Amino acid sequence: MTAPAVPERVDGFGLYSFSVSPVHRPRSVPELVETLARLRAEGAPVVFRGAGRSYGPVATNPSGPVVEMTGLNRILSFDDAAGVVRAEAGATIGDVWRHALPRGFWPPVVTGTEHVTLGAAVAANVHGKNHWKRGSFAEHVPEVTVLDGDGSPRRLRPEEPGMARVVGGWGEGGPVVEVALRLKPVRTGYLDVEGFALGSLDETLRCLEEGKEDWEYQVAWVDCFPSGAALGRSVVHRANHSAEPGKGGAGLDLATQSLGTRVAGVVPKALVSRLLGLFTSDPGMRWVNLGKLLATRAGGTRRYRQTLAAFNFLLDSLPDWRNAYLPGGFIQYQVFVPKESAREVLAEAIRLQHEAGAVSYLGVLKRHRSDRFPNAYAPDGWSLALDFPVTRRGAPRLIRLCRRLDELVSRSGGGVYRAKDCVGSWERRIANRIYTREF
Ligand SMILES: Cc1cc2nc3c(=O)[nH]c(=O)nc-3n(C[C@H](O)[C@H](O)[C@H](O)COP(=O)(O)OP(=O)(O)OC[C@H]3O[C@@H](n4cnc5c(N)ncnc54)[C@H](O)[C@@H]3O)c2cc1C
Repeated sequence: MTAPAVPERVDGFGLYSFSVSPVHRPRSVPELVETLARLRAEGAPVVFRGAGRSYGPVATNPSGPVVEMTGLNRILSFDDAAGVVRAEAGATIGDVWRHALPRGFWPPVVTGTEHVTLGAAVAANVHGKNHWKRGSFAEHVPEVTVLDGDGSPRRLRPEEPGMARVVGGWGEGGPVVEVALRLKPVRTGYLDVEGFALGSLDETLRCLEEGKEDWEYQVAWVDCFPSGAALGRSVVHRANHSAEPGKGGAGLDLATQSLGTRVAGVVPKALVSRLLGLFTSDPGMRWVNLGKLLATRAGGTRRYRQTLAAFNFLLDSLPDWRNAYLPGGFIQYQVFVPKESAREVLAEAIRLQHEAGAVSYLGVLKRHRSDRFPNAYAPDGWSLALDFPVTRRGAPRLIRLCRRLDELVSRSGGGVYRAKDCVGSWERRIANRIYTREF
């Protein structure tokens, strides 16, 4: 019998949404079963939580307990021949690649942080910078195990109907306790990266469209501040797996992949995180975006090798970077739009920010292929993820902007990604659909 949980503050990653909830942290499946039976008997509506990397409130619970799954984090088996790893649902993408890379494998889909649990990667059906090439996370999951209402484990394969409730089900399909993931073989731990600056949204869209078959990973860091001809200018990074080992070897070892604690071997990253706070204002971030663009432009097209970890998990190397947004925290808003209307809608999404006087400090543009799961959020098209600080003065206009973005996205036939939704856009879309269907 475990001790009753004391209510504590449970944050969304953006530090804007939170709840005060009793948090249960089972360390094993039997403990989870016992906890859930007890909570069910109490009639408590449970929310499951992984590592809490969703920006909004999706892993918080204002009306009941939170069951955090990170204690179930064992790697259970690894099949070298098939490249399939089986792990408990609280193991993270980081746990998996650390186990797999020395054996010559890498997860086919990784998020911008390695601190995402496998259970949540399925429940959210996350995507990476290679969504066009590899699709979403669940496309590489041959089997998951979920607990039924009575606590008995049920194994689900992709073709089974129960899987549709689990993938992109945000925990509604029951707690995922085990995940099998098919990894991809890699010959080295490096990527051949190309980085360059582009002057407008049109150029950026064209470049990523033309490169989508040739590059495994593509992302554009969009500067949302300029208008006119420079609207949507960006720095593009694209990369393919390096086939040949470098001078230092294949780089499959964990020491090579270490993100390190210093920028350029000199400046402590903890200091960089703290300095970020000094630039976390509209003028500051306008200069940061401009500086990044000009520095990249001055260097022309840069080709270099980067470790898989450094390319994919850039933000993880800056400890506590989100604290730069305190005291109000920040919200993300990720617009997904079909390719047919992408140019107009994305340009309008940036223009609306200028009109509202609330401009995203960082814009991340990706090309997506259409998801094949019933709970899909990605059309054959594009997404633009936006980061906005929340301040007491700016909050009303920020919320108004989000409502206008909601309308824009709806009209375009696109969608929003629930993991990044902090202001109820996802719930409003669902409610709207129910409303228009039922009345
Ligand atoms: C820096 C950063 C970069 C990111 N980059 C990307 C990206 O590139 N692509 C992308 O798709 N997302 C990205 N995200 C979002 C993140 O991948 C998702 O929000 C992911 O779901 C978070 O995983 P988590 O373990 O923290 O889960 P949580 O945020 O704790 O939970 C997410 C959801 O999963 C449910 N859940 C958790 N565990 C289980 C379980 N075992 N069984 C059933 N349901 C469960 C929860 O109820 C909740 O609905 C990023 C987030 C950050 C902070």
